[in-house]
Amino acid sequence: VKIAVLKETRPNEKRVAMVPAVADKLIKLGCEIHMQTGAGVASRIPDSAYKNVTFAANPQGLVSDADIVVAVQPPPAEVLGAMKEGSVLLSFVYAHREPELVKLMRDKKITCFAMELVPRITRAQAMDALSSQAALAGYYGALLGATHLARILPMMTTAVGSIRPAKCLVMGLGVAGLQAVATARRLGAMVEGYDVRPETKEQAESLGAKFVDTGVDARGAGGYARELTQEEKDKVAAVLTKHIQQADLVITTAAIPGRPSPKLISKAQVEGMKNGAVIVDLAADGGGNCEYSKPGETVQIGQVTIVAPLNVPSMLAEHASELYAKNQLNLIELMFDANKKFAINWDDEVLAKACLTHAGEIKNEAAKKAIE
Ligand code: NAD
Repeated sequence: VKIAVLKETRPNEKRVAMVPAVADKLIKLGCEIHMQTGAGVASRIPDSAYKNVTFAANPQGLVSDADIVVAVQPPPAEVLGAMKEGSVLLSFVYAHREPELVKLMRDKKITCFAMELVPRITRAQAMDALSSQAALAGYYGALLGATHLARILPMMTTAVGSIRPAKCLVMGLGVAGLQAVATARRLGAMVEGYDVRPETKEQAESLGAKFVDTGVDARGAGGYARELTQEEKDKVAAVLTKHIQQADLVITTAAIPGRPSPKLISKAQVEGMKNGAVIVDLAADGGGNCEYSKPGETVQIGQVTIVAPLNVPSMLAEHASELYAKNQLNLIELMFDANKKFAINWDDEVLAKACLTHAGEIKNEAAKKAIE
């Protein structure tokens, strides 16, 4: 089985879908690895770090005889177009943002497994790239916040008196939010957490945060949150305003699958925040959680700084690539049978649900509805 690894081409994408340790495992499984020259360089992995891997500069040539193509972001149309019929593509896709590419995958009869479609079930945890990448983003969100503040997070006792610890509020306690809580705690902040899924209370408390209870329960399908009604939004805002405005650092991570990020912080709430406060909006890829956020930029509103970075995992490309490549390895291993023969078992729930296109069809219902 020939596996082709592409060098990423999208702006600000420093990750790579293959790391040396994963290449070794795939070679042991009987695969051949062919990589695009310099694919790992932005992740600080030179070509020389990959053993028993061949390199080629031209991506079209690389994918033209590959059985499996791996990437982080969906490959450009000219590369997809060069893939052979029936070959497998593994990457993030986000079909609703890429209708033309998805149609091309369908028409080229590419079997695409979209990393964001891997089901969030216990058995698939080791293949769940959304979680591995979100955990890193949450950690980095706390660090970004710390470096944008003109104050420190921990309590510090000095010869001229004590400095009080900073107050940090984390909104959205999913995978990223809980890592943000843990990191801000480790840095010594007093941390509060808030989410619309009540089960997050215990999770945040176990990491040392105080849970802000708004009395709104918005559990949706598949363990995710649903959108709030206007009445619920008003109820939440009434409780949260005080917590937002007492915080030195607010980290937001709220997302609803397939929808723009909910606006959790209004302009008026920002205008009432403390001088010097910082908001780190980790939902910027989905439009952001704050009405003032400008995705990809840092803006100053009065004395409040709002940081809304895009593609945060890419800023930690070395570890992000390592975890991502391991997620993909576990998914690829599922495609081999007990005799190490490459054979996709469509009865496997993880593979069936992660499949976006196969044999000339869009297999994911939501994507099919949005695109066809
Ligand atoms: P996500 O990125 O979709 O959302 C982040 C958080 O934002 C979620 O906790 C969500 O509840 C919250 N949120 C949404 N709207 C909000 C609002 N208006 N106000 C406040 N918070 C809001 O979610 P995620 O981090 O990818 O995953 C969420 C949950 O999915 C996990 O915590 C877990 O329960 C489940 N999950 C399960 C598995 C598994 O079992 N394998 C893996 C990953 C995640």
